[in-house]
Amino acid sequence: THFGFETVPESEKEARVGAVFSSVASSYDTMNDLMSLGIHRLWKDHFVRTLNPGSRTASPTSAWSILDIAGGTGDIAFRMLDHATNINGDLHTKVTISDINPDMLAEGKKRSLATPYASTGRLDFLVGNAEKLPSIESNSIDLYTVAFGIRNFTDKDAALREAFRVLKPGGVFACLEFSHVDSSLFNAFYKRWSFGAIPLIGQVVAGDRDSYQYLVESIERFPTQEEFKAMIERAGFVAPAGVGYENLTGGIACIHKGIKP
Ligand code: SAM
Repeated sequence: THFGFETVPESEKEARVGAVFSSVASSYDTMNDLMSLGIHRLWKDHFVRTLNPGSRTASPTSAWSILDIAGGTGDIAFRMLDHATNINGDLHTKVTISDINPDMLAEGKKRSLATPYASTGRLDFLVGNAEKLPSIESNSIDLYTVAFGIRNFTDKDAALREAFRVLKPGGVFACLEFSHVDSSLFNAFYKRWSFGAIPLIGQVVAGDRDSYQYLVESIERFPTQEEFKAMIERAGFVAPAGVGYENLTGGIACIHKGIKP
């Protein structure tokens, strides 16, 4: 059995995505490690390093204001504050972690207590839908990140337009997401792993095969690197250095970036 999202009306899809993440919230981190053999940590580290939050070159006068959308359990946000603090000596950069799912956000809040940022005012939590962020002012954000989130959004174009609205001119949109493998041999192995092992691990570890089956299927359906790049440009962004994306691990994951002119 699986969710059969193709046949689900848009209005119901959001509720189903919600149910998936409520169901996986507490086992989410363990599952990530198992499903990706720990590689998601390397991708996230790399993602944050290339963004270089808190660096003075991009924002010489003031700290960065970062919005981490679909921030879930805080993986990206904590890394960004670590990077700003430890690499760039920046103690003022702030991150707002926003997620549509209060259970995921609660998990992030709990985890934040074990970081040095818990009571520094550098972390904020906001329950909200990426497609509409009325509490975030236009032209107010230096860096917008979304890691392994946009794939699940019902209206990705609306989310991209909203990202464009909230970013300052010169601000950066950065997305880390599963994508499409570029070698057919490697793809054959990868498909076996994702369709074979991941739902099984989901069943055994999280007691929830369907949610993980859905996650695997949603990766298949996500636009290709070039298609997604075109969507980002349609929202108004320009691709840095004309390229706009970087494949990770043969395209299993991909980083897309766009700059608001
Ligand atoms: N960014 C974290 C990471 O990299 O570990 C969490 C990624 S998790 C796979 C995807 C998150 O997207 C979930 O926490 C889910 O609640 C959130 N999400 C799904 N649809 C959303 C929407 N429309 N707006 C905001 N967040 C959404």
